[in-house]
Amino acid sequence: MKLLKKIYKYVTPYKGRLTLGILSMLLHSFLTVYVVKVFKDLMETVISTLEPGKQGLSLLTWSALVLIAAYFLKEVVYYWQRFLLAYVSQKAIRDLRNDLYYHLQNLSLSFYSKNKVGEIMSRVTNDVGVLQNAIVNGAIGIFYELVTLLGALIYLFIIDFKLTLFVLLALPLITYVLKFFNIKIRKASRKVQIKLADISHVLEETLSSIKVVKSFGREEYEFERFSAENDENFRARVRSEQYGASLTSIIEFITAVSFTAILWYGGYEVMNGYIKVSELIAFFTLLLTIMNPLSSLSKLSTTLQQALAAAERIFELMAIDNPVLEEKNNEVLTNVVGNLEFRNISFAYNQGEEILKDIDFEIKPGEVVALVGPSGAGKTTIADLIPRFYEPTKGQIVLDGKDIKEIDLVSLRTQIGIVPQETILFSGTLRNNIRYGRLEAAEEEIIEAARAANAHDFIFKLPNGYDTVVGERGVGLSGGQRQRIAIARAILKNPRILILDEATSALDTESEVLVQEALNRLMKSRTTLVIAHRLSTIKNADKIIVLSNGKIVETGTHNQLMEMGGIYYSLYKSNFRSGQNKSES
Ligand code: ADP
Repeated sequence: MKLLKKIYKYVTPYKGRLTLGILSMLLHSFLTVYVVKVFKDLMETVISTLEPGKQGLSLLTWSALVLIAAYFLKEVVYYWQRFLLAYVSQKAIRDLRNDLYYHLQNLSLSFYSKNKVGEIMSRVTNDVGVLQNAIVNGAIGIFYELVTLLGALIYLFIIDFKLTLFVLLALPLITYVLKFFNIKIRKASRKVQIKLADISHVLEETLSSIKVVKSFGREEYEFERFSAENDENFRARVRSEQYGASLTSIIEFITAVSFTAILWYGGYEVMNGYIKVSELIAFFTLLLTIMNPLSSLSKLSTTLQQALAAAERIFELMAIDNPVLEEKNNEVLTNVVGNLEFRNISFAYNQGEEILKDIDFEIKPGEVVALVGPSGAGKTTIADLIPRFYEPTKGQIVLDGKDIKEIDLVSLRTQIGIVPQETILFSGTLRNNIRYGRLEAAEEEIIEAARAANAHDFIFKLPNGYDTVVGERGVGLSGGQRQRIAIARAILKNPRILILDEATSALDTESEVLVQEALNRLMKSRTTLVIAHRLSTIKNADKIIVLSNGKIVETGTHNQLMEMGGIYYSLYKSNFRSGQNKSES
């Protein structure tokens, strides 16, 4: 019931249309029964005009016209009820899908590190799809069939209540069978949706890493994995269909038995003159009309159970809270100077497993601070705390004297530019990729940013220039070119604080020089935190912070740290010497 309430919430904004739709539906149900009555009257007229000398001709024509008019009205109403209800339900589904996507975008990064992308995608596409189908074909249909059934039953009662009892006898039995199978179908459908999500997960994972799969020659292995999930989906689906098919055949059989009983008893009543032949025919016509609702009720209930299973999964996702909570009325930043302090910061991804311990440092406006340390030391984690991708478990991060928790999240992130190790380009033109930094930027600003990032020349030489469309993941551009696009994007954004995760992969010397030049322009007079892998950045940094196992172990400039002869000294000797040799060669 709670679930239905949640679904209903999405329909409420369209209450007006919904009401109209339901009224049309009621009218349509009424007309469905009414045409049978007109039909019966017409038949009685026909029978009576068979006797010569009666003035039945005009009455006959009149009845025929009324029948056509009733049918016409019935079909017009049918169109409107179907259109209105489809409109409302499709709107509700659209809103639900939008809400789900919005919610997903707002979930914190820790959610994404714990959940599979393919699985999440499946909920937005497959589960919402099932719900969509069910609301349109299921819920509305069930309601309509029930109303028609009720109307028909009332009229059946009026014609002959004894005969109607035969129909009523079957109803409790049908209800019981429906209930029994519904539970089973819902369980099987949930399994189907889970398996669909698993398929989607394997698909996403392997296709997005197709290079790795191929290079290890693991196509067969991945195929086995995919095929196993696909098999399970098949089994769950067939089981769900088996339940559905059993349900339909049992209900149709019960209906057929009760109809035969009616025919038998109705024939007996006609033979004894208790009812007229026309009444028995009308009774049967009506029965045929409700035969449809009865058998489709069973099919529709299968669809509805599938939908409820899907809805459960959708609202499970909706119910996940976002751990990065923003206080209301947080301050919107205007003039940022760029003084950034970490005050005794500790952090754990999983409770109890501290990744950062008592991190304490300051970056003055315009300074460049380099983070160095072995892999897994916590460099990326420190950088991720600044835009509040994660919340520290202890301590404060302070920007211009203000705890970043008290700053409006959007305005904080507007002030932060991130150049990641691997540049992600979205499908679309190069222009739009650069503009991602600031959507309202003018053409000249885009070109200016591209120039500063040493990207303009190569873009200009491309046949379509800034209109060149990049494929998924930026296929078609070299590593250095992609990095320069990312730098142009950051320059256009013009943030006060810059987080730079230098690429570890080596570029050719020419590219390296172009990228370094671009980076120097980007860093100029910004507060910069670099996760440093390049010698030049480290040497020129105002301060180097050496991390090991989530703790700061040394701080100082390159020369100071070299003189100390500690961890940095040995790290430098082993890691950066090769880089030095390269840049000196
Ligand atoms: P670095 O950037 O210095 O290589 P990271 O900050 O990426 O180090 O990682 C620091 C530690 O945190 C590592 O032990 C890593 O395994 C762990 N870690 C990183 N990301 C996550 C995550 N999303 N969930 C759990 N642990 C993580």
